[in-house]
Amino acid sequence: MESQTYDSLPRVPDQWMDIVKAQVAQLWPVVDVPHIRGGGGGAGGGGMLPVSKNKWQHPNPNFGLLTRWKTGFAKGYKTIGDLKTHWAGLGDYVTPNDHSGNEICLKCQLTGECKIGCGRSNSHLACGDDVIAKLHQHLDHCGVPN
Ligand SMILES: [Zn+2]
Repeated sequence: MESQTYDSLPRVPDQWMDIVKAQVAQLWPVVDVPHIRGGGGGAGGGGMLPVSKNKWQHPNPNFGLLTRWKTGFAKGYKTIGDLKTHWAGLGDYVTPNDHSGNEICLKCQLTGECKIGCGRSNSHLACGDDVIAKLHQHLDHCGVPN
């Protein structure tokens, strides 16, 4: 007695298997991680991760700052330049420095993203609590709601 079970299934020609094997090889190419430079400073993007051709993402952003920026964004603070416009602190508008004396990239710390080639990429790093407190104070002076 002959079983018809397998005969009801379409047969895969050997040629197809070769094609499938070739495609499988393409699905797992050898990953060659490109070494992307931040440009200018020669310090790469600090601790930032490249997310696209011209954008870095902060690998470890401070969520308190991100949340506050979002709150400010809803109140009309659309760009980092708007902070300067709303500056109400003593003297001229000054961007806070990090421990190394670099001007902190506010865009990076407040939005969690920055452009590749940013001139302040040296500060694209996770901040200590004291620096974060300083950034909150900066936002206070710019009238950003907490
Ligand atoms: Zn930046």
